[in-house]
Amino acid sequence: MEKETEIEELKKEFNEFCKKSPLYKEGTFPVFGEGSLNSEIMMVGEAPGYNESMTGKPFCGASGKILDKLLESAGLKREDIFITNIVKIRPPDNRNPTKEEIKQFSPFLDKQISIINPKIICTLGNFSTGYIMERFNLKDKIQGISKIHGHIFNVSTLLGILKIVPLYHPAVAVYNANMKDTLKEDFLILKKLVGD
Ligand code: URA
Repeated sequence: MEKETEIEELKKEFNEFCKKSPLYKEGTFPVFGEGSLNSEIMMVGEAPGYNESMTGKPFCGASGKILDKLLESAGLKREDIFITNIVKIRPPDNRNPTKEEIKQFSPFLDKQISIINPKIICTLGNFSTGYIMERFNLKDKIQGISKIHGHIFNVSTLLGILKIVPLYHPAVAVYNANMKDTLKEDFLILKKLVGD
């Protein structure tokens, strides 16, 4: 089946699932994720915030503006990558996602990964890093994001080598210019990986 068809079918299933989710609120949008289905890079954030829940688009608020600048600094465009989140409906008051919520939404992320089949997965922040590393049998290498950001983990899959690159969540740079520099340096690693 074509990737487009597979994603459309998954999206329909996702929309039905979301209507029954305890996180769902009328008048807001779940955020499935968007971007190129042929992308070599997938970025996985934490959960939608207010702006995302009003538009249905991932990373369209303050963190998104930072992400766009970081992508630009790495010579990448949003359209060239696929961006999504581990939890796909905004948790109330922007609280952290719970383990249960991560478990509920993870089959959709897993399916997105298997359809898109990226060469690189960048995990943004602790929640998506923990989930993706465990999912790809790297549980014993999980550490806090301040320790493992910018590291490259190579995983052998049936379809070849997948690189997992944990990065700080762009939100850390909203009020902290030093963190922006750290993120920029990490995105340069990404630039090199894409060029390889
Ligand atoms: N933060 C996230 O983790 N994801 C978004 O889509 C927006 C903000």
